[in-house]
Amino acid sequence: MSEHFIFDGCDTVELAKTFQTPLYVFSETKIKEACQELREDFIEKYDRVRVAYASKAFNTLAMLRLVEKEGLCLDVVSGGELYTAIKAGFEAEKIEFNGNNKSIEELEMALDYGVGRIIVDGLQELELIQAICKEKQTTANILFRITPEISVHTHEYISTGQKDSKFGIPLDESILLPLIQQAIEAPELDFYGIHFHIGSQLAENQTHLAAAQVALDLVKKIYDTFGYTVKELNYGGGFGVRYTTDDIRQPFAYFLDPLMEKTIAFCQEHKLYRPTIVIEPGRSIVAEAGISLHTIGAIKTLPGIRTYASIDGGMTDNIRPGLYHAEYEGILANKYDQAATEKVTISGKICESTDILVKDIVLPPVETGDIFATFTTGAYGYSMASNYNKIQIPAAVFVQDGQAELVVERQSYAQIIQNERIPKHLQSGETR
Ligand SMILES: *Cc1c(COP(=O)(O)O)cnc(C)c1O
Repeated sequence: MSEHFIFDGCDTVELAKTFQTPLYVFSETKIKEACQELREDFIEKYDRVRVAYASKAFNTLAMLRLVEKEGLCLDVVSGGELYTAIKAGFEAEKIEFNGNNKSIEELEMALDYGVGRIIVDGLQELELIQAICKEKQTTANILFRITPEISVHTHEYISTGQKDSKFGIPLDESILLPLIQQAIEAPELDFYGIHFHIGSQLAENQTHLAAAQVALDLVKKIYDTFGYTVKELNYGGGFGVRYTTDDIRQPFAYFLDPLMEKTIAFCQEHKLYRPTIVIEPGRSIVAEAGISLHTIGAIKTLPGIRTYASIDGGMTDNIRPGLYHAEYEGILANKYDQAATEKVTISGKICESTDILVKDIVLPPVETGDIFATFTTGAYGYSMASNYNKIQIPAAVFVQDGQAELVVERQSYAQIIQNERIPKHLQSGETR
C-alpha cells in the first residue's frame, strides 16, 4: 500500500472517504500559527496597533470564532459578512466595515450593531452615513479609503491602489480635503483617519512603504491645514503567500517592521502624534492553512498533446485559476510516496474551457479514484464558491493534531433549489 498524505495529523485519504469530495480542509494549527506570528511580531511588539482579519478570504462561523479567540479584530465588506460575524459572536466594536458601495440597509445594520469603524469610500457614502446617524441620533467612527496611486506588482485584477480604480477617494486635494473637513466638523462623525489597500498577493514591501508615505504626508497635511490630529492609519492587507515553489512567502515582520519604522520616524521628525496602525491581512492568515481534496474521475489522453485528468469539482470550488490565471501545486494524496513521472493537466468538471485547476503537473501515474490534494486553497476558495452547473458547495473541515471537525456541511441538492419557485401559470400539468 502506498503512503498517504498527512495534513495536521490527519490522513487526507481517510478525510476524503469520511466527508466525501470535493472537500476543503483547514489546519487549525496553521491558522493559529499565523495569528501567533502577528501577535508576537506586531500586536505585542508595538503600542497601539490592531490586526483586522479580512474575512472575505474565508468567512464562516468557525473561522471567525477562531480568529476572535486568537485576539484579532475583523474586516467585513458586506451585510452578509457582518451578519456572519455577529452570529459568530464577534463584538461589533472590533469590526471594521469596508466596501465601495455599501447600501443604506448595510450602513443602517452596521450602525445598529455599533461596528467599530466604517471605512468610507467617497462623498456619497459620507453623506449617507451622516443622514443615517442624524436620524438614529448616533455617531459613526470613520476613516477615508484613499487611492494612493501606487502600481503594484501583482495581477491587474487584484491590484486596487492605482489611480484608475473603483476603490477609494482620489488623491486630489481639491476632492480629499473638503471631505476631511466635512468629517471633522460633522457632530455625528468621529473622524479617525486614513485607510489604503493597494492590492493582493504582494511579495515585496516597497509598495506598502510608498503608500504609507502618501498616508503619512496626508496626516501632516491634515494637521497643518485643520490643526486636527489623525488618530488612526489603516495600511490594508495584501501580504503574499506561497502558491507554488516560485512564490516567496515573507514573514509578516518583513512588511510590518519597516512600515512601523517609517511611521514612527515620520511622526517624530514632524512632531506629530503617532496614529494607531491597523492592518487587514486576509489571504496571509488562511491561504496556506487550507488544502482541497478532489477525486479523479475521467482521464483522457490526447496523443501527442496532453492528458486530462478530471476532478469532481473545479471552478465552482476554486475560481482563481479561471478568474486570474492563479497557479497551484498539488499531489496525489493516496500515492504520496510514489515517484512523479507523468505530466497531466488537472481539469474541473464545469462546462467552461477555463476550468483548468493545474496545467501540466508531474504526478505519479494517475488513475481514476485517486485523491488530488491542491495546496494553499484556504483563501478565496470557499468564499468564492458558486453553484454554477448546479454543483453543490463542498463541505469544509477543520483539522488539528489528527482530529477532524466538520465546520461547513456539504450543500444538498434540495438546498441548491430551496429559494426557487415555479410561478402559478406554469404549475398546471404533469410534474414528476
Ligand atoms: C481584500 C481586502 C483585504 C485583504 O487582502 P489580502 O490580500 O487577502 O490580505 C484587506 N483590506 C481590504 C479593504 C480588502 O478589500
